[in-house]
Amino acid sequence: MDQKKVIIIGGGVAGLSAGIYAQLNGFNATILEMHDKPGGQLTAWERNGYHFDYCLHWLVGTDHGVFNDIWKETGAMDDHVQVINHLTFSRVEDEEHGEFIIYNSINRWKAYLLEGAPEDEKAINELCEMIEKSTKMEQFEDAPGMRSAGDYMSSLWHMGSFLPIILRYGKRTARELFEDLGFKNERLLYFFNQLFGAEDFSALGLLMTLGWGMTGNAGYLKGGSLHMAMRMARRFRQLGGEFQFQSRVNEIIVENDTAVGVKLAHGDVMYADHIISACDGHAVLFDMLKGTYLNEKFEEAYAEWPLFKPLVMIGFGIDKEIQSPTHNTSYTLREPMIIGRTSTKAYSIFNRSMYDEAFAPKGKTTLLMQFETPWEVWESLKGLDYHDEKEAIRKVAIELLEKHYPGACDHIETMDIATPHTTIRYTGVWKAAYEGFRPTTNVLNGLPMKLEGLENFTMIGQWLFPGGGLPPSAQSGKWAIQRLVDAEGGEFMTHEPETAHA
Ligand SMILES: Cc1cc2nc3c(=O)[nH]c(=O)nc-3n(C[C@H](O)[C@H](O)[C@H](O)COP(=O)(O)OP(=O)(O)OC[C@H]3O[C@@H](n4cnc5c(N)ncnc54)[C@H](O)[C@@H]3O)c2cc1C
Repeated sequence: MDQKKVIIIGGGVAGLSAGIYAQLNGFNATILEMHDKPGGQLTAWERNGYHFDYCLHWLVGTDHGVFNDIWKETGAMDDHVQVINHLTFSRVEDEEHGEFIIYNSINRWKAYLLEGAPEDEKAINELCEMIEKSTKMEQFEDAPGMRSAGDYMSSLWHMGSFLPIILRYGKRTARELFEDLGFKNERLLYFFNQLFGAEDFSALGLLMTLGWGMTGNAGYLKGGSLHMAMRMARRFRQLGGEFQFQSRVNEIIVENDTAVGVKLAHGDVMYADHIISACDGHAVLFDMLKGTYLNEKFEEAYAEWPLFKPLVMIGFGIDKEIQSPTHNTSYTLREPMIIGRTSTKAYSIFNRSMYDEAFAPKGKTTLLMQFETPWEVWESLKGLDYHDEKEAIRKVAIELLEKHYPGACDHIETMDIATPHTTIRYTGVWKAAYEGFRPTTNVLNGLPMKLEGLENFTMIGQWLFPGGGLPPSAQSGKWAIQRLVDAEGGEFMTHEPETAHA
């Protein structure tokens, strides 16, 4: 194949994946990244010897399946990476109802639920059975438009007993699922609704999320986000790919309805045979392409589909070893509390150095506190007001730390506050919606990779899939290149020629 040139806008997991598969398939790929390092939201930073990780908690595909292939092919996982499967998926401490745990094992969780709510035996068994069945669902390996009838048959066959559940709950909420199953125990229902009953959270999203965790296929990669991003970046470079950092793209150059190049913020213009956008979807459609190639579906999605609520993350570097009951605890409150300008009924604390010694020097601890905050709070917050808001958050965060870890505040060596504006500054994510569109009843409803009427252009990344996340973002990068190879009449390669398993 001739060395055709591909420009990839954005060096997050989607862009890195596209870059790697592009190089594996004989293209000449350049990743243009506005930041000074790769990874996008898959990132972390050092402060005073403490490591604050912004992203990786769990990674679907750490054990098997189509996503596992991608992690291995892109170098995100290699033989040296240790996978940690936590005993618990989540632990809640509720002001009124006490402790509730979700174990990362179906049998263990079932036993725990039955102990607390024996009257709900039938509903508990049914829920756990549904979770187990969800794990039978296999992701498609090939890109949309490149699947054979056999692929669909095989997918249906694998889905087996999960198919009726998809048909029944594909467009329904988790709350409706709990109602259908007929749970009676009020405490259990309270926790289910606290955790999964929010607004219109998808029933399928719930089942699949728990299924992945409970079958050991959604572990944590030791070293965390930035190390994972750097492994992928190294693979891209080793395959001959080129990065250009601090290169923000302002415009996609279109001639005769064909994408031919990009204009950078610092004035340069670059041309290529194919342009792949792997950055914020809203910026691509509405700014870089000036709204020219929107269709009804995109307009509806960006106008109406609910977004993830932004996060504030407070990192504490503590000069003392702290053990927590589990690696993460969510605290839920009877009445809303005020943190700065945000009113919230929940916040979480993660003890990240408990399971990854890379996060804090020996004998010290990194704790991360996190809460959701509406974008409207931050939208116009600037200058002194922004500074004051961070100070207000700092004060309350220290009080909360002291409440849950008495004495810890005397040992704070370092504090770091990342706000929705931090997310936007570093990654450009629209309204700081860190995983894009929320997985509501639209969870089966993705957006297309191609824009009608625009040639030589592909869109990838988290904004194509409600629920977002690392696996589908990386997969969309693979799919983009698979389709390009197909259009060139080539055979898609997932490994270097000498070890090819294409
Ligand atoms: C706090 C947090 C926790 C998370 N936890 C998990 C988790 O445990 N598991 C999981 O699977 N997912 C998790 N996610 C979600 C996951 O990180 C994202 O869905 C995924 O990283 C999206 O990848 P992406 O490549 O599509 O986009 P991004 O990561 O947003 O990458 C886009 C890239 O494009 C660059 N860019 C933007 N605009 C331009 C421009 N104009 N010119 C050039 N470059 C540009 C950005 O700098 C960025 O590097 C989490 C996210 C957050 C924030």
